Formats: sequence, C-alpha cells, structure tokens
Amino acid sequence: MKVLGVFLKNFRNYKELNLSLDADINILFGDNAQGKTNILESIYLCSCLRSHRTSKDTELIKHDSNEYEVKIEFIENENRHENEQNNFNQSIQINYYQAITGDPNKIRNKRIIRHNGIFLPKMSEMMGLFHAVIFAPEDLMMIKEGPSTRRRFVDILISQIRASYFSELGTFNKILIQRNCLLKQMRDGKSDKDYKLLEVWDFALSKSASKIIAARIEFTEKIGKIASKYHKEISSGKEEIYVKYKTVSGITPNNEIMEIESILKNKYKTMFYEDIDRGNTQVGPHKDDLEISLDGEGIRPFASQGQQRTAVLSLKIAELEIIKKETGLTPVLLLDDVMSELDLSRRKMLLSSVGDAQIILTCTDKSHVINDFENEEKPRTIRYYKVSEGLVL
Ligand code: ATP
Ligand code: MG
Repeated sequence: MKVLGVFLKNFRNYKELNLSLDADINILFGDNAQGKTNILESIYLCSCLRSHRTSKDTELIKHDSNEYEVKIEFIENENRHENEQNNFNQSIQINYYQAITGDPNKIRNKRIIRHNGIFLPKMSEMMGLFHAVIFAPEDLMMIKEGPSTRRRFVDILISQIRASYFSELGTFNKILIQRNCLLKQMRDGKSDKDYKLLEVWDFALSKSASKIIAARIEFTEKIGKIASKYHKEISSGKEEIYVKYKTVSGITPNNEIMEIESILKNKYKTMFYEDIDRGNTQVGPHKDDLEISLDGEGIRPFASQGQQRTAVLSLKIAELEIIKKETGLTPVLLLDDVMSELDLSRRKMLLSSVGDAQIILTCTDKSHVINDFENEEKPRTIRYYKVSEGLVL
C-alpha cells in the first residue's frame, strides 16, 4: 500500500495541512514538538481508528477548535495494473465532532467515516481498507505496562485482517456492560431475583467471548512463531522469546470455539456469587493477557532495556509479516523516531524485513538516517520534508 496524500484540519497542532507523500521513503525531520509524530498518528488513525498515543479523540482536536478532519489518499498496490480491481486511488476520511454543552445539535461526540467519499455507517466497515504498522517509542509499553496494552496490540492486529473480529469486540463490550450492570443491581438488592436474566447474559457473553479468545489464541501462536525467529536472529541465537495467550483456566490452544464457549459458560455459572459480590465479571477476554517470556523467565522484571527493545521489535515485525501474509498487501510502515534508538544490526533487520513497503519516518536530524536508505542495493525514491510549527516545508 502507498499513501499518496494526507489532509488535516484542526488535527493536533495543524490548522490545515495538504501534504503529498508519494515517495517510497518519506522522511519527516525537524526539531522536537513541531508536529512530526502528529502526521504519523493521523495516518495510523486511518488504519484502525485508534491513535497509538491516546484513546481520547478529543485530545486529537486542535486546542482552539471542537472538531477535526483527517483524510488520506492511498493506493493498494502500485505495481499492479491500473485496470485491476481496487487499483485506483482510494481515500479514507474521518471527521470527529466534539459535544458542546448547551448546543442541542451537538449533545454527543460524533465520528463520521467515509471511504472514497461514501459514508460508512459502521466503524467495522473501515477495518481492512488501509493497512499500516507503526513502530514508536510507546511500543515499549507492551513490555512495561499491564495486560491492556498487549490485548490492544493483538486486537488491532486481528481487526486489520478480520473486520468481523472488530465487530465482535464491540458486541462483547456491550454484553459485558449489561451483565455488569445487572450484577451491580443484584449486589445492591435492586434486582435480586433476576437469575434467569443473568443466565441470558452468561450465554451471550460466553458465545461472544469464545470467538474473541479463539482468534486471539490463533494469532498469538502466529505472533510467537515469527517473533521467536527474529528475536533469535537479533540475539545471535542466544535468546529465545515465547509468546503465549493467557486466559481462563481450563482453556487450551487445542480447544474448539464450542468447547471454549462451554468452559466459559460453566465458569460464569460457578462464579456468579463472586461476580455479584464484586459487581463485575471477573473472567473473560477483558482480563486476558499475552504472556511474553525470555528463556522461560517473565520478561518484565528481568530483561534489560536492550532485551526489551529487541522483544518489542520482534513482536512488531511479526505484526507486519502477519498482515502481509494474511491480506496479500504490504502495510505502510510508520517509523516514529525509532531509527535513532536501534543499533545498526537492528536497523538492518527491520529494513530487510519490510521489503518494499512504503516508509514514512520521523527523525530530528536527517543525517542520522540518510545512510540507512541511500546505500540500499535497489535505490528507491526518497523525499525529505522539514516540519516546523505545524507546517511542512
Ligand atoms: P518530537 O521530536 O519531540 O517527537 P514531534 O515533532 O514529533 O516532536 P508532535 O508530537 O508531532 O512533535 O507534536 C507536538 C506538538 O503538537 C506540541 O507542540 C504539542 O503542544 C502540539 N499539540 C499536541 N496536541 C495538540 C492539540 N490537541 N492542539 C494543539 N496542539 C497540540
Ligand atoms: Mg515525535
């Protein structure tokens, strides 16, 4: 895939931007806090509707405004013939409107998505249209922080490949909210005889949860295999990384969806007193984790900074390879200030794994990255853009 242009309105520190990015390698350089990452963030948003830095859309709106617009123009495969299916210029446009107190027309935050100018009623319809993988300093949170960052990693990866998975996550969350609401009412004595209704939610929740867990197990295995290959290579065969999906006890990677569903149903049944006590659902995909270990030890407490970086790099390369393999399309690669943090062997590994993907990268000093690209055997078009105070020069 290749991004041809980015258009922003009131997004982060951009009042308006109309940027053409049609080279193979696009290097955004400039001082700190000028708006380089903001451009990558806007492109990434068009792949999975999530920023890599925040879950709050309102943070993306320029401070003096109450709405933003992001639009990208892209092509699926520039090497294919123009007449082939899907090989025309496409666009994704996201408009976000913030609720304004006192304005009856804007009582709720609203997001509108368009593909080639056509309104998409469901967010899931956007998944899989445009693929991008971002490498950013925030990736280290996957190792350093709690399970939610790892669940997010696997959820975004699967959603880019299977739009139905993204819809299922939405369904699961809705049922979970309903079940938790009922549990709280039962705990507070407002609805103490509703065991039948609870059973209805248990059934619905188990059904939805089992699909999510089965997909996560499947993709975690794929991630683990590829990450382990790269990690071994970078560490010259000295270290082995394992990635395992940690879920409700009793569920194993060999279980079919129906078996997972029945294990969950039993679990919810046997745990309901505890759940009522706490007023929420204590097991399920919303509590699961991706267990990452290095040579059999949990990675978090023991690994050095370098080992953590290598692990993250291996996981991200796995993400890139899986998207490529499953969709047959090469995602756009967004590199946010990461080249300066990687040593030569890791930079080489990363660039050789991306093949001919379009690269859009940020750095403070372009002289630091020139050597990585200008000495390539197969020269590719490179363009430099200076970013300064919300303007691209
Ligand atoms: P660095 O080299 O430090 O990573 P950068 O060029 O990548 O810098 P960005 O993160 O893209 O910087 O942009 C940061 C700038 O955007 C800051 O000046 C910040 O104050 C501004 N900014 C962030 N969010 C908003 C917003 N919602 N409205 C206006 N300005 C914002
Ligand atoms: Mg930045």
